[in-house]
Amino acid sequence: MSDYVVAVDVGGTSMKGGLVTSAGTIPLTDRRPTGRAEGPAHAIGEIRSFVTDLAARGTTLLGAAPAAVGIAVPGLVDETTATAVYSANIGWRDVPAAAFVPDGLPALLGHDVRTGGLAEAVLGAGRGIPDFLFLPIGTGIAGAAILRGAPYGGASGWGGEIGHIPVFPGGEPCACGQTGCLETYASAASVARRYTARTGRTIPTEDVAALAASGDPVAAQVWTEAVEALSLALATYTLLLDPTLIVLGGGLAEAGPLLFTPLAARLTAHLTFRAAPPLHPALLGTQAGMLGAALLGWRTAGLPDVGLTWTADVLKTIPVP
Ligand SMILES: [Zn+2]
Repeated sequence: MSDYVVAVDVGGTSMKGGLVTSAGTIPLTDRRPTGRAEGPAHAIGEIRSFVTDLAARGTTLLGAAPAAVGIAVPGLVDETTATAVYSANIGWRDVPAAAFVPDGLPALLGHDVRTGGLAEAVLGAGRGIPDFLFLPIGTGIAGAAILRGAPYGGASGWGGEIGHIPVFPGGEPCACGQTGCLETYASAASVARRYTARTGRTIPTEDVAALAASGDPVAAQVWTEAVEALSLALATYTLLLDPTLIVLGGGLAEAGPLLFTPLAARLTAHLTFRAAPPLHPALLGTQAGMLGAALLGWRTAGLPDVGLTWTADVLKTIPVP
């Protein structure tokens, strides 16, 4: 059997792909647009073409066809049936894994955030920790509940939609149709949007955090509300599932201590009768999805333990596409 898999992380606008060996080296990476503007059928064709191209380049570079393919996709994913059930962003419904790969190549599909969580669990910030929450906070907020060492998607794949936990009853309307959702207050996009709505000034989210720290009252209010919303959602998660650790990633976590310090304090304040789990930054950054997809590829190739011996140094071997 050949000693590499094709791994692809599909986003709404672009997808990242790579060849990943069983030793955790990454001889090649590439990126291309998802092409969702031309409809879901086109996007599916673009993904299949990207996988086909990576497999052909792998065959040339490494002397054999890939052992398997792992793909992380957004939206609702049923991992047990390997089906991309629905994506509001791309518009597809009920796409089987086989539609994304050339004939004859075994493939496994994963939900994008749960696949990133799998990578953080196997070789990242949650390594060796069976129960933790992986929460990337970017344009939106979705989490991966890692339970007993594996990402948990729930009964139908909707598990982990922490961004739509109502944190402020009667609060601001969310794009999802509910009101007062965590995502409305605390996503990186929402923090920037809420600052702009109050000041008319458009600045990056990290600047809102910095302004808040320097005493700007409007920025401080927006930031404090984001932290409060997050702390309430994390308190709920903690009380429900008792995680050892909470791993924060995405754009908002880039704020570092400006986020982690007040968030830890508010989480502790909410949890009166038990200790708050520690908050750690994610280790794998924007590569988590592709690395998780590689782990899925190795699982479907029949080697589920690949990845356990990789070190986070794998990140240093990733060529920039
Ligand atoms: Zn919502």
